[in-house]
Amino acid sequence: MQKRKLVYEGKAKRLFSTDDDELFISEFKDDLTAFNGKKKSSESGKGALNNKISVELFKLLQSHGIPTHFVKMIDDNHMLHKKTNVILIEVIVRNIATGSLSKNLGIKDGTILPFTLVEFDYKNDALGDPKLNDQHALLLGLVDFQDELDKLRRMARQINDILRPYFAKKNLNLVDFKLEFGKDSSGNIIVIDEISPDNCRFWDMTTKEKLDKDRFRQGLGGLSMAYQEILNRILG
Ligand code: 5GP
Repeated sequence: MQKRKLVYEGKAKRLFSTDDDELFISEFKDDLTAFNGKKKSSESGKGALNNKISVELFKLLQSHGIPTHFVKMIDDNHMLHKKTNVILIEVIVRNIATGSLSKNLGIKDGTILPFTLVEFDYKNDALGDPKLNDQHALLLGLVDFQDELDKLRRMARQINDILRPYFAKKNLNLVDFKLEFGKDSSGNIIVIDEISPDNCRFWDMTTKEKLDKDRFRQGLGGLSMAYQEILNRILG
């Protein structure tokens, strides 16, 4: 399958049409951004690592019956996937408090949450991805029905129930992550985008070392090595 027209360029990926109306190709870029695009850099090999990690995690989810847009990996930086109507809600799943949860609500960084928290952010760079409640999401027409919001939450929890123990076996705490969803040509809600250290936080269970994009956000260095370590543990 060949790339045809550039349909959209995001911060971390380029999206191309193909000869098949139902399929798109994503090209994973080496670009890094944080703080709503205010901090920018590039790290050679990052795109390929995120593609490979996402491929493995989409395959894992599909093997558990979770529908995703993944079709196949084309090469190091390219993934073939279904075309969807993107739902402009970022679904955030949290097992341990850190990041914006600690900042906004004053919960001590590293606190293990008594239950898994699922939050919705409005996927809107111009507004800085603000928090949404269900009524906001319905008011904005981001979904058609309350049932769809309930489904996003249910799928997010199912995914956490698959990924959290999977990573625990690899001595990694899945601290939190962001999911995106779209509707396929039949109207089914499926997981889209990527699942990678760009949008998940992974902490080594023993050393507490951060093996994700916080290395860039916090200027810790060693980003490629951390992402490679995540891929090695997934494949190991
Ligand atoms: P926080 O709200 O603490 O900044 O992020 C929570 C989790 O969601 C983190 O794993 C973070 O990587 C992910 N996340 C939230 N918003 C975004 C976003 O706009 N882009 C990316 N790549 N990840 C996000």
